Amino acid sequence: MKTRLGVIGAGAGGLAAALLAQSHQVDVTLFESHSQPGGCAGWFDRGPFNFDVGATTLSGIGEGRPFSEFQKLTGAPLQVKVVDPGIVFHLPHTKMRRYQDNLKWLAELERVFPGMSHQKFWNEIEDLSGRAWGFLPHVSGFPPAKWSDLKHLPSWLKGIALVPSLLTSLETFEKKYQTKNDLYKRWINALCMISAQNHIHQIPALIGSLALTYPAETFAPVGGMKGLYSSWLSHFESIGGQWRPRERVESLKFQNKNWNLKTVKSENEFEKVVANVTSWSLDKMIQESKIESPTEAWGAFTVYAAVKWENLQNETYHLVLPDESEGVDDYFVSFSLPNDTERAPIGCQTVTISQHTNEADWLVSKEIYLERKNQRMEKIWQHFFKTFGKPSEVKFLSAGTPHTFERYTLRPKGRVGGMPHRWSYPIWRWPSWDRGNNLAMIGDTAFPGQGMVAVVNCALNWWRASASHFDFQRNRRS
Ligand SMILES: Cc1cc2nc3c(=O)[nH]c(=O)nc-3n(C[C@H](O)[C@H](O)[C@H](O)COP(=O)(O)OP(=O)(O)OC[C@H]3O[C@@H](n4cnc5c(N)ncnc54)[C@H](O)[C@@H]3O)c2cc1C
Repeated sequence: MKTRLGVIGAGAGGLAAALLAQSHQVDVTLFESHSQPGGCAGWFDRGPFNFDVGATTLSGIGEGRPFSEFQKLTGAPLQVKVVDPGIVFHLPHTKMRRYQDNLKWLAELERVFPGMSHQKFWNEIEDLSGRAWGFLPHVSGFPPAKWSDLKHLPSWLKGIALVPSLLTSLETFEKKYQTKNDLYKRWINALCMISAQNHIHQIPALIGSLALTYPAETFAPVGGMKGLYSSWLSHFESIGGQWRPRERVESLKFQNKNWNLKTVKSENEFEKVVANVTSWSLDKMIQESKIESPTEAWGAFTVYAAVKWENLQNETYHLVLPDESEGVDDYFVSFSLPNDTERAPIGCQTVTISQHTNEADWLVSKEIYLERKNQRMEKIWQHFFKTFGKPSEVKFLSAGTPHTFERYTLRPKGRVGGMPHRWSYPIWRWPSWDRGNNLAMIGDTAFPGQGMVAVVNCALNWWRASASHFDFQRNRRS
């Protein structure tokens, strides 16, 4: 008899876990409350356009990296395009491009921020991130949740030398080499915010090194997130996985050595469950909270547009830092790949713009909410024209707030991107992915945290730890 695994949620983490298990002869049923997969990295269609709702960039692809390890284990398709420069930074009065080539990147830094020790700083950061990548995708059962996890000790030893860089902030590194330049500090903080959700004095150096180097290895999925998830879902179904969209899980109870999983439509029994939901949601679902999860987290404000241009934007990802006098917060812009007709007809592109926002700003009356939403969208949109030029036609324009994310992904208060990394709140204090009795939590509120690459890594970590259980092994042999 095959092991029966129920997966709650088809975000990047849930779908990755479902594919890993189904590819190794586990009988997987994947429940999703929405009609389609993706969650915070999902998409929506409007006429001939498709828009990425949140995540737009991919990283962690290449020998030994999480997406490639995942692909090797599952055979799931991964059709991506290398994006170089990975990000174009729009600083007040100048642009700076993050090229893949290290020498070109250092020359660009020297042009915009002359007279600093760029080479020494970036060499050290590259070295640290290289060592982190040598460890993270290959570790299992980490951080440990119970004594029996000690069996995974050999896989942790590779990372032992990295521990001090989890307990020092990225700023300690940065201070060694850089002079006091306010714009440089603002830029490096903005870059850390988009991937680790915090500023350099708070981020552990290890996580910071990954945050700073990821734009050197940026990929765009062909067909956008819709292209990626549609191909993963088809693969999952083609190998026998059961896909249950529009089926929100309402409760999860452990009884008679099995999990009773109740959805809006059915009641089911599973030996093992993967919950691809936030720690806040899971605590509520199982009606227990062993660990106090910190509730500090960001919300997102997003703008979605479909535009027609004389000249299509050839550079895909942009981080815009407006002049402080303009009163617009930093924002991240992603264009669909030129001539990707899966996403927009010829001559047109779709645009996703995102900004950090506080959940409290949106807990207001409906009237104030709508006014705030429109004003913020209008402000960003006017600044977008200034930065990229006016399109010949705007075919669609809409905005999203934490309420929108809460509605479509069921994340409490629309908190996205997981918990911000803080060196003073080390990774081993995060809610554990292992909730006992064969219940695992996979997603951006578990180690190693935010972003698609991190949640795929979390699924790999779970899979490696579970695959050493007897019944998973038995299935692999049969
Ligand atoms: C604006 C924005 C921009 C971002 N940009 C990037 C980027 O460029 N690159 C990057 O790597 N990351 C980016 N991120 C972060 C990234 O999107 C997330 O960290 C990642 O997608 C989280 O995946 P997840 O699997 O943990 O959870 P989620 O994406 O939240 O998926 C959880 C899924 O579970 C479903 N679900 C929840 N509760 C239930 C239930 N009770 N029953 C059934 N189904 C349920 C939800 O509908 C959802 O589909 C961005 C995030 C945002 C918000």
